Amino acid sequence: MKYKRILLKLSGEALMGDKNYGIDSSRLQQYANDIKAVHELGVEIAIVIGGGNIFRGVQAGNVGIDRVQGDYMGMLATLINAMALQSSLEQNGMYTRLMSGIKVESVCEPFIRRRAIRHLEKGRIVIFGAGIGNPYFTTDSTASLRAIEIEAEVVLKGTRVDGVYTADPEKDRDAKRYDKISFQEVYEKNLSVMDMTAFTLCQENNLPIIVFDMNKKENLLNLVHGKNVGTLITSK
Ligand code: UDP
Repeated sequence: MKYKRILLKLSGEALMGDKNYGIDSSRLQQYANDIKAVHELGVEIAIVIGGGNIFRGVQAGNVGIDRVQGDYMGMLATLINAMALQSSLEQNGMYTRLMSGIKVESVCEPFIRRRAIRHLEKGRIVIFGAGIGNPYFTTDSTASLRAIEIEAEVVLKGTRVDGVYTADPEKDRDAKRYDKISFQEVYEKNLSVMDMTAFTLCQENNLPIIVFDMNKKENLLNLVHGKNVGTLITSK
């Protein structure tokens, strides 16, 4: 087993599966299965999930909603996904805690760093909902920041694409995937991995990122076993 403590970032968009909106139950179940397999190895798991399948702050302007208000709506959207994931993990026999970046006391705990670490040590899966709790940030930034705070060894960014490519693989057929690349090269080649705030946080704190396809069964498990899945981004 290569990692003892991981931060898994799941995108909200991936959660909708083939649907146009909302949550796909089979996708949710697949995530629960994959997470369980890793949890059974004794890996400590923290999760950040996005909200793009429900609402994104940047969409707010299009419908006449103030940007900051829209960002809070986006944070609440991530909380809805986090609650769905929490429920699914518990139905599959895992113990979990949901911690929120904004106060929603009837639903979950507030984020308290030392408490989050204690939950992890006790084998509970910790889900961080509602982002950092501030507008103008993303769930990628949340993933980077929380990973650093809880001293995770790696950020595993699960997406629909199986890594970082020389160009957008959905648009350019000749695009090639990197097995490994440095933070510096990602900057120089202007490749998209995460938004800059999230990316810089990882670089400055020497926290490796792995971009991989979460929709492919057992990718997560293989990654934790140290197999070559997706693209690893490190300092050198
Ligand atoms: N958001 C925010 N602050 C945070 C995290 C999220 O304002 O700390 C808002 C932001 O509007 C974002 C939305 O929540 O667009 C949903 O998150 P994101 O777009 O990162 O989700 P994903 O695309 O990964 O599903």
